Amino acid sequence: MNHSFSPDKTEASGLVTPPTLERWLTGPRFAGLPAPADGQTPPLLSFEFFPPKTEALEQQLWACIRRLEPLRPRFVSVTYGAGGSTQARTHATVARMLRETSLTPAAHLTCVGASRESVDAVARSYWEAGVRHIVALRGDAPAGSRYEPHADGYPFAADLVAGLRRVADFEVSVAAYPETHPTALSPDHDLDNLKRKLDAGATRAITQYFFDASVFLRFLDKCLAAGITASIVPGIMPVSNYAQAAKFSAMCGASVPAWLGRMFEGTEEDPEIRRMVAAVVAAEQVRLLQANGVDEFHFYTLNRPDLTYAIAHILGVRPAAATAGTPAAAGTG
Ligand SMILES: Cc1cc2nc3c(=O)[nH]c(=O)nc-3n(C[C@H](O)[C@H](O)[C@H](O)COP(=O)(O)OP(=O)(O)OC[C@H]3O[C@@H](n4cnc5c(N)ncnc54)[C@H](O)[C@@H]3O)c2cc1C
Repeated sequence: MNHSFSPDKTEASGLVTPPTLERWLTGPRFAGLPAPADGQTPPLLSFEFFPPKTEALEQQLWACIRRLEPLRPRFVSVTYGAGGSTQARTHATVARMLRETSLTPAAHLTCVGASRESVDAVARSYWEAGVRHIVALRGDAPAGSRYEPHADGYPFAADLVAGLRRVADFEVSVAAYPETHPTALSPDHDLDNLKRKLDAGATRAITQYFFDASVFLRFLDKCLAAGITASIVPGIMPVSNYAQAAKFSAMCGASVPAWLGRMFEGTEEDPEIRRMVAAVVAAEQVRLLQANGVDEFHFYTLNRPDLTYAIAHILGVRPAAATAGTPAAAGTG
């Protein structure tokens, strides 16, 4: 076989095509991601679910919970629908987690459109049910209207955190925005707000999702420079439906890099390939973060377990010994 470079070819257009091997050898060289070290401690994980609306979605949620439970997340959180619309379902889901699983649940709680009294009452009912961790959020005004604090309410999440700490000795997590909250007065003001939430008694922040690892790493630098020392846990959203993710990202201020669109281009009608692409995209993101020292991750599961499970596996997380080898063993619960 002849291993010499193939000669330059002159096309009909007159352009000279460089010899293939020469082209390959002139590009930049990348070291690649480090292989996981032997004995490397797996990261701490948390998983987020949303409360189901129908019996079918309830089955899906519980299948998801059972599938992910053996990965022993340090906590799992359940969202609170816009304006508290899922109050009863969030409560029921969290209470069932406490009753029927080994998981430590965290209940999301928003203060938008509610009096302090009613928010405190919800918090107390969580405490009485045995819930010890709240993800404290302001929440959003209904689509199309501007946020106005309730006259007797907690105006912002920092106020809610302080209120919750008065109700009981909750562990409190709050939200952070690597690309700045969409309606913040400025990035610095938003960062001050994050600091206020932590100073009010929150112990960690979970970020809005992002796609470029560098967005998160730059944000960590800014947090440190602002004197924040609490954990800032990256929120990871494994994208399984690009069109939907792009639409949602526009609303919540997460930028969608052009390369992400190119990755999913042409997979619209091919769910199998789309899932493979999704796994690679998310795996690259978390591996890059892990290589940069990040050892805590929060997954937006969207009540679907497989991508989250696969990415957790890639990060080095394995199911508890007692349940190893029996994926989804507990069925739909
Ligand atoms: C991890 C995570 C989980 C979420 N879970 C839910 C959920 O379960 N249910 C739900 O409805 N939504 C949820 N959200 C969305 C969240 O409710 C919205 O992003 C909401 O717009 C902001 O909530 P916050 O807690 O960050 O608010 P805040 O921290 O109060 O900030 C809201 C905005 O107000 C600004 N601000 C704060 N204080 C002041 C002040 N004193 N004066 C002027 N401006 C101020 C901030 O800079 C920011 O722009 C979640 C978001 C994240 C990142």
